[in-house]
Amino acid sequence: MTDLIIIGAGPGGYKAAAHAAKNGLKVTIIEEGHVGGTCLNVGCIPTKTYVHSASFEEARERLAQVVPQLRAGVETILSHPNITLVRGKASFVDGHTVRVGDEQFTASNIIIATGSDSKLIPVPGIDSSNVVDSTGLLQLDTLPKRLCIIGAGVIGMEFASVFNRFGSEVTVIEFLKECLPALDSDIAKRLRKQMEKKGVTFYMGAGVKSISPSSSPVREGELTVFFEQKGKELSVETDVVLVATGRKPRTEGLNLEAAGITMERNGAIPVDENFEVTANPLSFPGEGRPDGQKVSGNESPSSGRGQGWASHIYAIGDVNGKQMLAHAAEMQGIHVVNQILGIEDNIRFEVMPAAIFTSPEAACVGPSEDMLKEAGVSCECHKAFYRANGKALAMNESEGMVKLFTEPGEGRILSAHVFGAHAADLVQEVTAYMTLGATLRQLRDTVHIHPTLSEVLIEVN
Ligand code: NAD
Repeated sequence: MTDLIIIGAGPGGYKAAAHAAKNGLKVTIIEEGHVGGTCLNVGCIPTKTYVHSASFEEARERLAQVVPQLRAGVETILSHPNITLVRGKASFVDGHTVRVGDEQFTASNIIIATGSDSKLIPVPGIDSSNVVDSTGLLQLDTLPKRLCIIGAGVIGMEFASVFNRFGSEVTVIEFLKECLPALDSDIAKRLRKQMEKKGVTFYMGAGVKSISPSSSPVREGELTVFFEQKGKELSVETDVVLVATGRKPRTEGLNLEAAGITMERNGAIPVDENFEVTANPLSFPGEGRPDGQKVSGNESPSSGRGQGWASHIYAIGDVNGKQMLAHAAEMQGIHVVNQILGIEDNIRFEVMPAAIFTSPEAACVGPSEDMLKEAGVSCECHKAFYRANGKALAMNESEGMVKLFTEPGEGRILSAHVFGAHAADLVQEVTAYMTLGATLRQLRDTVHIHPTLSEVLIEVN
């Protein structure tokens, strides 16, 4: 019996393992693929390598160096004497036991950190060759002449930006009327317009109906994407289709039923605010509820909580469907390990920054103006533009804006949405203020180095 089993060695899993091991827990971490998960192998790191390469060919070469180097780094972290790395596919035997091949492992606590897979849309032709998800796109050996992207979310916009820069003819088809739904709609529109200027074609408010491989031998490999926009039937011819219509939690083969876990409708593992799995305690095979009481028919499945029953099973990262971001998974894992160790922390999961690495970048922390309005929150909007900032002009990056939302009277900062060079760094600064509950006045009173882009923050009107 070990202290902690972690299933999945992505950013959520391996960071949790390192934190637990450093604090004296004995950890068994199980991984069926490469360590580092989606983020390191086929997600954030490869995409950012593409963003920072001058050409498709250079990006391919750099990817072949960057990923193995980082993977080796994670393997070093996992070689800690308190950590055992087990290679293979894990499945639950019961609430405390996990099987990998013929071997069984038992622990007092288990963290599920298995991540997510691409969600494909159910349209005819989606299984045609040259229809790929982001992993497939990163495996292409040659630059497609034409690329059609379905979905203008984070993945769609990042790849549209980078493949446009590499020289592909890029078309994006999006169901909603604006891209990046979580971003301030004004900022999202400006970003889309910038990308249109650079040659990306967008069809907004458009639903894909089907994808057909070309039947002509002359146009072998070519695909036609049929879609509807404002009642009109339209089509786009392309060489490769990227499907970027969201991701779904990865739970296949985990045999969650053996641990009494029932998934939510969207396939996510249900968790409470501390990422403990909310499952019916009575359905834990061989366990029952430790206080020996029966759960009445009216009680909710997790109502054993607070009456002496602790689940000891946690789900962190994409698999719980809460915030599909690598840094969210990492912080959730650290919070869970802190709970196991009895350490109190002050991580504020509602203050969750995110960035979209398009060119230029966009980033946000906290709700957009639309969301604040919808929730009936009274607030003030403070704006500033990059074109009035010396460093931005010196960098030839004058296109950009900051929107800060505060409580009335320049009170506490509620959110920040930014578009422009190094938007992620600006949002990171605001994240620190928001985490501490600071006001706009306190931000303005902070000395900012001149000349820097972050001076835009204190220039807001
Ligand atoms: P997403 O949810 O961000 O966007 C999917 C988009 O596809 C939406 O705008 C949706 O309206 C559209 N769509 C869905 N069905 C469609 C259809 N039939 N036709 C046209 N459009 C359709 O999903 P994603 O971009 O695939 O990203 C998946 C997850 O990975 C997200 O949670 C994202 O936050 C995360 N991610 C984050 C980063 C980052 O932080 N930089 C990078 C990559 C991925």
